[in-house]
Amino acid sequence: MCSVGGGDFSLEVAKLEVGKYKCNGCGNMFEGMGEKVVCPSCQSENVVKL
Ligand SMILES: [Zn+2]
Repeated sequence: MCSVGGGDFSLEVAKLEVGKYKCNGCGNMFEGMGEKVVCPSCQSENVVKL
């Protein structure tokens, strides 16, 4: 018996997706990533992902 294949590579997807965010404080739109995104303009954490 030949066993071919062995697709046992592990998928390590980094959880660093770049997303578009908008700051509710100053209305700035920017790209951010990570779990804690702050507005680059006013350093507010009050941002929403678009
Ligand atoms: Zn801001």
